Amino acid sequence: MLIVQKYGGTSVGDCQRIKNVANKVITAKNRGDQVVVVVSAMSGETDKLVGFMQSFCHEGYTIPDGRECDVVLSSGEQVTRALLALALQSQGYKAISLSGQEAGIITDNMHTRARIEGINTSKIASLLSEGYIVIVAGFQGASLEGEITTLGRGGSDLSAVALAGALRADLCEIYTDVDGVYTTDPRIEPRARKIEKISYDEMLELASMGAKVLLNRSVEMAKKLNVNLVTRSSFNNNEGTLITSEENIMEQPIVSGVALDRNQARISIGDIEDQPGIAAQIFESLSEKDINVDMIVQTIGRDGKTDLDFTIPKTEVIVAQEVLKKFADFYGELECDCEIAKVSIVGVGMKSHSGVASLCFSAMAKENINIMMIGTSEIKISMIIEITRAEKAVRALHKIYKLDEK
Ligand code: ADP
Ligand code: ASP
Ligand code: MG
Repeated sequence: MLIVQKYGGTSVGDCQRIKNVANKVITAKNRGDQVVVVVSAMSGETDKLVGFMQSFCHEGYTIPDGRECDVVLSSGEQVTRALLALALQSQGYKAISLSGQEAGIITDNMHTRARIEGINTSKIASLLSEGYIVIVAGFQGASLEGEITTLGRGGSDLSAVALAGALRADLCEIYTDVDGVYTTDPRIEPRARKIEKISYDEMLELASMGAKVLLNRSVEMAKKLNVNLVTRSSFNNNEGTLITSEENIMEQPIVSGVALDRNQARISIGDIEDQPGIAAQIFESLSEKDINVDMIVQTIGRDGKTDLDFTIPKTEVIVAQEVLKKFADFYGELECDCEIAKVSIVGVGMKSHSGVASLCFSAMAKENINIMMIGTSEIKISMIIEITRAEKAVRALHKIYKLDEK
């Protein structure tokens, strides 16, 4: 079997943990598998690197040079990939570590949020055939011009899935600090249960709605490339969660999980001119700045005016406010609220069952939690609420859909 294993920041958090990872890799190797290992930086390391760079920012100045940022950001994974190779070599195993570039990961040139365009697997394939355990630095690649790029925060999951797809690996295992995907974040609801199998689509919605156990882009790619994806813990040998096609799952619960996203902000534009083209111009200008707009609500117009509310990542608020200043002649007031959170329920069973939404709203009503915005898709309902009530809302939803019961 050819397997790709990915170890996250906590799993490689210090040298003792790297030794523990080496033992897991050795177990797979001794079973006769060919193993490619993708590693993240030690936990907290990438945040530390971001902090270093921020010390050069000042009023009205943000770092414009993504090229240098990526050299800094990618350095965390360079340390762990080589340390793991040393740990394996010290146990008598043939191991070699590669940067993203050496591993053949080719990206576009959008620094700090690059997309993978292709992988040249020849080097990894020949090292595997020579009997090496191959370790690859996650989160990084290189553009065609040979510049180092990074894939966006949490990007090592994507490196692993992309490599598994390109190498046609039999399995891609994502090792982290929880032993699988739970019905909600077990740090918020200790009664959350581990899910044995979940469909790509549900996992994609959960990840996109804030369940950071997997990066949403990695789930999307796993679905596209048909990668068998498993998440499990690097701290025990428990069975993990299989992320697979819907048809491989016999019984579908109506609601599979609850997700929480604390990184959203709400922008409210009041008394905006109710005429064709305004919304298009606003959202075009935001997209030119690469601001990802999520939920959008517009109220019915009155007296030629209307209100427009939408959510964006908190990190984009300052840039968004700058953009919206350009339209100040067209609206009355602009409000920005960073004290919000998005809670979502996800489940494919929603497609064929009624009453799911009403149960969700009644759970909020019972807890006296005000819903500011509602958004839905075929398999998801999201609500924007006050951030201080977010964890309570998650627990109430978890309970009302009986997710703590088998
Ligand atoms: P890594 O550093 O290994 O990539 P992350 O911190 O990115 O790990 O992701 C693991 C964390 O995801 C867990 O510690 C857990 O708190 C959080 N999490 C959020 N939602 C879920 C969920 N539904 N199931 C499991 N873990 C979740
Ligand atoms: N080290 C990077 C981050 O913290 C990538 C990853 O861990 O997946 O975002
Ligand atoms: Mg992660």
